[in-house]
Amino acid sequence: MKIKTVLSPNGHVHGGAKVPHRKNTSEFKTEIMPTPSTVTIPMQMHIGAPCEPTVKVGDKVKIGDIIGDSQAFVSAPVHASVSGTVKSIIDFPAQNGGYIKAVVIESDGQNEVSDSIIEKTVTSAADLVSAARESGLVGLGGAGFPTHIKLSPKSDVRLDTLIINAAECEPYITTDYRECMENSEDILGGIYLVKKHLSIKNVYIAIEDNKPLAIKLLAEKISAMRSEEGEPIRIVKLKSRYPQGAEKVLIQAVTKRKVPSGCLPADVGCIVMNVTSVALLHRFIKTGMPLVNKRITVDGSAINQPKNLLVPIGTSVSDIIEFCNGCKSIPGKIIMGGPMMGMAQPNLLPVIQKQNNAVLILNKADATKKEESACIRCGRCVSACPMNLMPTLIERLASINDVESLDRIGVTVCMECGCCAFNCPASRPLVQYMRNAKAVYRKGIKK
Ligand code: SF4
Ligand code: SF4
Repeated sequence: MKIKTVLSPNGHVHGGAKVPHRKNTSEFKTEIMPTPSTVTIPMQMHIGAPCEPTVKVGDKVKIGDIIGDSQAFVSAPVHASVSGTVKSIIDFPAQNGGYIKAVVIESDGQNEVSDSIIEKTVTSAADLVSAARESGLVGLGGAGFPTHIKLSPKSDVRLDTLIINAAECEPYITTDYRECMENSEDILGGIYLVKKHLSIKNVYIAIEDNKPLAIKLLAEKISAMRSEEGEPIRIVKLKSRYPQGAEKVLIQAVTKRKVPSGCLPADVGCIVMNVTSVALLHRFIKTGMPLVNKRITVDGSAINQPKNLLVPIGTSVSDIIEFCNGCKSIPGKIIMGGPMMGMAQPNLLPVIQKQNNAVLILNKADATKKEESACIRCGRCVSACPMNLMPTLIERLASINDVESLDRIGVTVCMECGCCAFNCPASRPLVQYMRNAKAVYRKGIKK
């Protein structure tokens, strides 16, 4: 096996933001959190159709049992993360607003594992896709796109490149880094499975250059593995600049291919998988245990003991804070995810979902918003946008309901990365304006 570490072809793409890294927890090994007394497991932790509960109140469940599923093509089954009794099925506040159905399980403290948990045999692409669905795997970097859909591109698509996303460019979050440091063999095992069964020629592990220990470890593991036929796995060192990990940005940085508006990575021959997702796929095939636990970074100025934790899906934020020895001061802001793309939450009710990778608890000083002032037409938001959008123009078009122009300038390609707002000297809430513009556009095209 040849191993090559290369710099990304153009270092970085247009725009972006030089955000502070704050990777305080990078060398904190993952701790396994004790099983909470109850878990609340939402029926939608993915892009696509929500699942319907397949259990009823009073049912006994074991870890790994299916508790929710859907017939829809774009969806992913949901599994019990603790053993115990289904206590209730409720409408639960979603992290991005609204309500979703959720199954509440009271743990019996036994952590009994489902009888269905057995090693899987994968000898074809179809087996791989079916294993991915069975595992309940979704994009673990935050997007939540069901992995089995990603692994089954349309028949007219020719995939030649697999990019493993280990960039982890959001401040604070170190969960993918810990995956690299603690489970590098599962990462490589997953890569070989996908490469082999999807007949992919080029494989890149894309990682920011602020993670030298992970780069070194992965390089050593790759070179130690037995040589296989085909092209080598390349580690691509990316400049540390937010949002290097965004799918379209990453594809361009690694391959120089641009994903046109309205198209998918597969349309330019690429498949991008989060590094923890590819490792989990391998673990599922090895053990049969589906996605029931999630590693999260707990950090922020208000938390007493920042940690990287492995928690059962459905564990509440309040249980996590308690396990981290509580807060130093009254929290000013709770964010599910990182400070750039995470969702601020109104209370401690949220639970860990498949696509969550951090809980940030900020004190009041860090949570205080700077006062907004009038736009000074400096254009920094335009220079910062990795998707080449003009946030101020979009804001104005949305205010006059000009759906046609919003369509023409491609408002939907906004990925809400926050680079425009981060660079705005007038502290204007540009991401909210972009979200509003997309809502105006969606409402307009329905008419
Ligand atoms: S939030 Fe949207 S408009 Fe702002 S920089 Fe990111 S992609 Fe561009
Ligand atoms: S960065 Fe802020 S102040 Fe400058 S043009 Fe954009 S919205 Fe206006």
